[in-house]
Amino acid sequence: MTYTLHAAHLYGDLMNTYGDIGNILAMRYYAKAVDADITVDLVSLDDPFDGDKYDFALFGGGQDYEQTIVSKDLQTKKDALTAYIEAGGPLLAICGGFQMLGHYYIGAHGEKIAGIGALDHYTLSQDNNRFIGNITIENAETHQTYYGFENHNGMTFLGEGERPLGKVLQGNGNNGKDQSEGVIYKNTFGSYFHGPILARNEALAKRILKLSLQRKYPEGNFDALDQLNEDLTKNVVVKP
Ligand code: GLN
Repeated sequence: MTYTLHAAHLYGDLMNTYGDIGNILAMRYYAKAVDADITVDLVSLDDPFDGDKYDFALFGGGQDYEQTIVSKDLQTKKDALTAYIEAGGPLLAICGGFQMLGHYYIGAHGEKIAGIGALDHYTLSQDNNRFIGNITIENAETHQTYYGFENHNGMTFLGEGERPLGKVLQGNGNNGKDQSEGVIYKNTFGSYFHGPILARNEALAKRILKLSLQRKYPEGNFDALDQLNEDLTKNVVVKP
């Protein structure tokens, strides 16, 4: 392989609701088209996060219980993760992972679970309700439509400098109120989409893959990704 990206799977043993690891597998699938591979390290409890080592990071979703455990350990990685994000390190955070990059998440039983405030959002809980179901959004910059499945109690409100990943066309999104879904901040992407999001949304997978490759290999030419039309979901039937 000509190119290699090193990925960190943050708390992949605790935060992997609905197989969010599939996001890295989807990226690796598309990476082959430009002769690139992706290696993955599990970075979990008590492991240091060394931002200089990684070209991409995935932080998946989890249940409130796992989030409580992760919350404590995450504080030890706060500075390194914040520096990675600020330096434009590519990161995809799903659901619970998205919540934990913000200031805090109020769990379903009213418990306050600390995030790291690397991003400026916060998450409240709903009383006896979860947002569950298929969701469709449109990304403002590209006008691409993204499809996913959401299942969350939290209601997230974006802060300064954060823009949504998309506008909700169907479903609930961040909070069911302001039609925002997910977040984009620098090269960090957050979303409530399982599915996993990159397996179901080829355009977004290629966008994040390309920016990760270009950041590491500024001289590389990855335009072949744009010509590729390999919908990973073509044989998948999604029933409404
Ligand atoms: N525990 C969080 C919530 O219910 C996140 C769930 C998830 O990651 N699927 O909002």
